Amino acid sequence: MKNKPYRIHKKHQPQKKVNDESIEETLKKLQKPGPKGSDYRERSLKIHGLICAKCGREFDEETRHLLTVHHKDGNNLNNPPDGSNWENLCVYCHDDEHTRELLGKYFNKGDE
Ligand SMILES: [Zn+2]
Ligand SMILES: [Zn+2]
Repeated sequence: MKNKPYRIHKKHQPQKKVNDESIEETLKKLQKPGPKGSDYRERSLKIHGLICAKCGREFDEETRHLLTVHHKDGNNLNNPPDGSNWENLCVYCHDDEHTRELLGKYFNKGDE
């Protein structure tokens, strides 16, 4: 009788390439919030940080949902990768910003 208590399955070692790819895919899926439109939000938060550009309130991972991305030119399709059209605003300041925009239009404020 032959006993081989220490059997090493060398052939079962995972191929590194395939493994790395699947991990990357999983991470991508986890990091992606889902809908396409919210993609720029994550980028803007990364570029500008978790801080409101207006009131300076700081946020963390737990409160980051209160921080929104405002488009400076009002066009949410204009999403330059350098973040130049984005402004991180807390929900309160964001609301305020858009209320002003509307009022500004009524009063023709931008006309100098
Ligand atoms: Zn704010
Ligand atoms: Zn906005």
